[in-house]
This record gives sequence, structure tokens and C-alpha cells, in this order.
Amino acid sequence: MTKRTDLPALLAEIHRDAQPLFGQGRVADYIPALAEVEPRRFGLAIATVDGQTHSVGDAHTPFSLQSITKLFTFVLALKLEGDAVWQRVGREPSGAAFNSIVQLETENGIPRNPFINAGALVITDILTTRYAHLDYALLGALRRLADEPNLHWNPRVERSERETAHRNMAMAYFMKSHGNFRNEPETVLDNYCRQCATEMSCAQLAQATLFLANDGRDLGRLGEPDEQFLSADATRRVNALLLTCGAYDAAGDFAYRIGLPVKTGVGGGIVAIVPGVATIAVWSPELDAKGNSVLGAFALERLVQGTGWGHTSI
Ligand code: GLN
Repeated sequence: MTKRTDLPALLAEIHRDAQPLFGQGRVADYIPALAEVEPRRFGLAIATVDGQTHSVGDAHTPFSLQSITKLFTFVLALKLEGDAVWQRVGREPSGAAFNSIVQLETENGIPRNPFINAGALVITDILTTRYAHLDYALLGALRRLADEPNLHWNPRVERSERETAHRNMAMAYFMKSHGNFRNEPETVLDNYCRQCATEMSCAQLAQATLFLANDGRDLGRLGEPDEQFLSADATRRVNALLLTCGAYDAAGDFAYRIGLPVKTGVGGGIVAIVPGVATIAVWSPELDAKGNSVLGAFALERLVQGTGWGHTSI
């Protein structure tokens, strides 16, 4: 249900109204190379299931996906393992910071959900067992989904995160001590840091996630036929997890303000799914205290208010 069909005018209005929010957040600097990004950037792109695209601002500038990649690795693990993933990771909101370690001790090395760092590390561990070259396998899947043969990861960001990954490494070792890690933590961390350093623009990200708005169907591009990338049932479940766990300890606030399945990342990106309708990708590097993009959350809130998207889907 669309309240307002003039999307280009709505996007221009959101872009204008977001400008005064610059300076309210801070660029992530715990990974040194991420701190080098220009803070005052803002881009937004929409892809609809009927093939339209709309964008405004820096929608074609690649940025560091960071935790948004956790959505793709989880989908791959679910495709390969089905319900067996739930033996290794939970599906409850954590209510704790994305890199929190505390629940791992009380919950015997089983992370609360696949989108906090500990859970994402388990998922990357599962995929590391499955793929001899997970980095290229993941990139191949993303290139197909985004319809973009030139996607890559940023080696500087990868190295910078790998050199400062002590906390993630500690979580991996802790989970290994509980028998919830199959590979060497070093190997999994190599894959994880490479995965997080993948870059996409908003336009590419909206395209790459469109199957989640389309009952799992990826529309054939790059000369390939349509593909049921994920079953409709699994797609519905992924969206439920994104709604409840996709924004870390701000998941409740995001559900209240935006009401859509989302995945956020410390690169300043957020992707939101409007089941049956569209995907929205937004990027602005300044983050709030919980690691989510300030202008990104604002833009999504305004967009759902202006379009009515999501009002009937939850
Ligand atoms: N690579 C980051 C980390 O593990 C991802 C965190 C994020 O985007 N929230 O710390």
C-alpha cells in the first residue's frame, strides 16, 4: 500500500531534511581504516520488486558493508544447513551491544542470534567448513545477487580490522572452548574480516537484497535466468530475524520507529526490506551510540511515514 507514489520528490525532501543531522553521530574508529571515511556522506537507493530503481545523494559510492554481510552469510548457511544452524546459534534478540561477550559465558558458548558478532563468527565458522575458499564463494554469490561483476573487498579495511580483532578473536576462542567452533579461530577471523570489508553502493545493496522482498526469488540478470535463491518460507524467517535482531540492542527502537526488517553495519549502511514491495539501502557514516547510522535511521523513518510501507506487512 503506497500513500504516496512520487518517490523522487519524497527522496529529495528526505535528503534535504537530513542535512541538519550531520555532526550528531561519530564515524566508527575502533577499526582504524574505517575512521578515514568522509563523515558527511548520505546516499539512499530503492529497488522495487517490479523492477524500478530510485536513488538520491551518494547512492552510487561504495562503502564498507561490515555487519550487513552477516545477513548474506546467514542466508548462505541457512541454505546449506537448514534448521541444523540452530544447534550452533540462537534466534533471540540479545539486548546487548553488537560485540558483547557477556552472554556467551552464561549461555555455554551459544550466541544469542546470527547477527551479533559472536553469532556471525559461528556462521562464518560453518561456512569455512563448507567452502575451501569462502572469500571467493561469498564474493561470487554477492556479485550475482547485486548484478555487479566488479564487487570486491577493501584490503586496507580488511587488514586494519584483522590487526585489531582481539575481541572477536577472544569470542572465537571462548566458543571453541565450549565446542562451538570447528575451525581454527585464526582461519575464521581471516574470512570474517575479509567478509566485513566487502564494499557496495546503496544501489548495489538494494539490488542484492531484493530476493528478500520477493519471496526468495532473485530476478535473473547478467544474462542468467531467475533463481529461487532462498525458499519463500526461509525468506520469511530471515526477515523475522532481521526485524527482531538486525539492529543489535536498538532492534526494539528500530522496530518502533521503522517497523521493517533491517540490517545495520558500522560502516554506516542500513538495508531495510519491505516484503512484497521493495528494498531500501541507505548509507551515512556517522553513527549513534549503538553503532547505527544517524541519518540512515532518520531517512528510513521518514520514508515509511511517507509511503506507508510496512504498515500492512508486519
Ligand atoms: N567488522 C565489525 C566487527 O566485527 C562489524 C561490526 C558491525 O558492523 N557492527 O566489529
